[in-house]
Amino acid sequence: MALSVRASFAGLLFGAVPVILLAGTWLVAKTAVDHLLYHDAVLTGQNWTSYLVDNIKDLEAIAKGEKPSAESRAFFERAQKAGQVFRYVIYDPEGRMRFVSDNLENSLAEDNEAKPKSAAEHEAEDKRAEKPDQDDDDDENLAEHNPAAARAIAAGQPLINAEEGEPPTRPQFFSEAYLPAVVNGRTIAIVETYIDQTRKRNEFRHTLTLMSAALLALIAIAFGVPGFAWLKRSNEKRLAEAHIRFLAHHDSLTGLINRDKLREETDAALAEANGRFALHSIDIDHFKDVNDTLGHAAGDALIVAVARRLEELASEQDRLSRIGGDEFVLLQAGPLAEDSAFALAAEIRRRLSLPYELDGQPISVTVSVGVAIAPAHGDSAARLMKSADLALFASKIGGRNKTSVFSAEMDKELAERLRLEKAIADALANNAFELFYQPIVEARTARLLGFEALLRMRDAMGAMVSPAVFIPLAEQMGLIDRIGEWVLREACQTAQAWPADLKVAVNLSPAQFARAGLAGRIATILGETGLNARRLELEITEGLLLSKSAEVLDELRKLKALGASIVMDDFGTGYSSLSYLWQFPFDKIKIDRAFMLALEAEDHGDAETIVRTIIDLGRSLNVTVTVEGVENARQLDFVRAARCDQIQGYYFGRPMPRTDLAAYIANANIADLAAQGALPETANHISSNALSATAGS
Ligand code: C2E
Ligand code: CA
Ligand code: CA
Repeated sequence: MALSVRASFAGLLFGAVPVILLAGTWLVAKTAVDHLLYHDAVLTGQNWTSYLVDNIKDLEAIAKGEKPSAESRAFFERAQKAGQVFRYVIYDPEGRMRFVSDNLENSLAEDNEAKPKSAAEHEAEDKRAEKPDQDDDDDENLAEHNPAAARAIAAGQPLINAEEGEPPTRPQFFSEAYLPAVVNGRTIAIVETYIDQTRKRNEFRHTLTLMSAALLALIAIAFGVPGFAWLKRSNEKRLAEAHIRFLAHHDSLTGLINRDKLREETDAALAEANGRFALHSIDIDHFKDVNDTLGHAAGDALIVAVARRLEELASEQDRLSRIGGDEFVLLQAGPLAEDSAFALAAEIRRRLSLPYELDGQPISVTVSVGVAIAPAHGDSAARLMKSADLALFASKIGGRNKTSVFSAEMDKELAERLRLEKAIADALANNAFELFYQPIVEARTARLLGFEALLRMRDAMGAMVSPAVFIPLAEQMGLIDRIGEWVLREACQTAQAWPADLKVAVNLSPAQFARAGLAGRIATILGETGLNARRLELEITEGLLLSKSAEVLDELRKLKALGASIVMDDFGTGYSSLSYLWQFPFDKIKIDRAFMLALEAEDHGDAETIVRTIIDLGRSLNVTVTVEGVENARQLDFVRAARCDQIQGYYFGRPMPRTDLAAYIANANIADLAAQGALPETANHISSNALSATAGS
């Protein structure tokens, strides 16, 4: 407000001031010219009158109507005009016209007493006939001809009449000066002098115009320069202020409104109570990868491209904002029809998934969307934005490239997640992670081959949290690298104490490959713990190979070169592309636990076929096959019949804490001996009981 007032004031100042200055200067100049001309006329009139008084000895007599002397006649004939004076009229002191310089014949006629009247009348009539607009200059009586002059003279004052004339009869500009001819303090006649001031006026005007122009120029310099500087500065300030105001509400990269402004708009939409409207929280999946692999400039370009596509999708009433790095919120204005929020969310995901071209390189991304509907999912902007954010979060943890609509459980889920995140951070800080170990046995003989190390964490209440829950979280928190290193060190150290023929299997998260040099770090750990690399099995999932990155394969080769075995975990789930088996020479395949569960189902034919096929495949590729999740004798019988190599499952042992291992291993030895017939029959039974007793998690 203040700004616009100031701006219009400045506009007024800089618009009106020159006009006022020009008009004022013109007025002053005109007044000065008029004044100068007046004085010039007075002076010339006085000079002329004195001149007449000095030269015409019988002026008083002539004014009384007497005949001029010969000397005066000669003078009149000589001095019809002189310099500026081009005409003069002599009146007697009472105002009767006695002589007109340009009507010499009549004026000097013999019977001057009577004639001048008619002559003057004549002349006046002629003139009127010729020039109807001409003033009645020549009325024989001054009181009639110019009453103002008559009054002025009576008061002893000169009177000047300025006139515009029409050449050639009259000069362009002239003055009539009425002055008394005074001799010894007595007015003997009245002289009306016609003074041609055309040249004077032009001169005065010219001079004053020049002076005015110079003056105006000086004023312009004196006030204009600082004024202009002020105007320029205040204009710059205004622009800067506008820019700051824009920045306060907008994102500089995309020009979209920012989070603060969105909050305002959302509150305004809520206040309008214009039916249902929606907030769509939109986040580019794996945006970090774009930034990391293509650089930040490409990342920025992608954000701008996404913003432009969203703008195309948004309607006139919708409001689009960028509230963070790769996160956008679209306020879909109400009132909304039942399904239009879902329809828009679907369209957003479809349109944003179409390929982009960054620096001539085609790139595709997916987005996750979270939707909150007002007023159901929040009665304030803050609450609604949080609801949309929670829904987005649900899409993200649900595997991305998804749309989720807010639900009340999401609040609880978030609280749960925050609780878990804190537990993870605490466990890492307090070295409170634990490893449990689950036995892996030879299928045919049930001989113990080793253990898989499985991570355990307790929450604040001391309850065990499944790694299936907290490991993805730790990955998202960026902590899995450090946790994984701890697992490797702990597992290797523990295995080092086992009989030398027992192996230890450690799960590796794809995130651990993200940082280069994993093989080197594992070699260091092996060196520090003294574990033979041949006793280490590293389990990876096919997710790691999805990226098909040369670095990952290279790292795997290095690990294999160290002597460690590489295991394809959870095989048969997910993409299960057989091509992964050809991409890298795995030492072992672990068939996912899901197949043992499927065997329990009524229709288990397919599961059996698949398990048999994978086992045969492994055999022909010369890869060891382990079946996970064997919980009962029936499953055991099936996998044995299918001739799998190794078995892992609750039937042989649950994951157990390190402290239980010694007893388990000892028991396994006894069981082995029994199986080999070195011990009485009962031993096998004892061993089975021991296994159930150690069931840990
Ligand atoms: P996984 O690698 O497939 O591990 C096997 C999981 O199956 C373990 O769950 C184990 O307790 C469970 N299991 C084994 N036999 C049976 C059975 O007969 N019946 C049933 N119902 N379950 C059985 P757990 O320990 O909860 O681990 C879950 C997942 O967490 C693991 O799946 C693995 O992917 C991940 N994980 C565990 N420890 C680590 C670790 O140190 N690092 C990484 N990156 N991931 C780990
Ligand atoms: Ca595993
Ligand atoms: Ca597994």
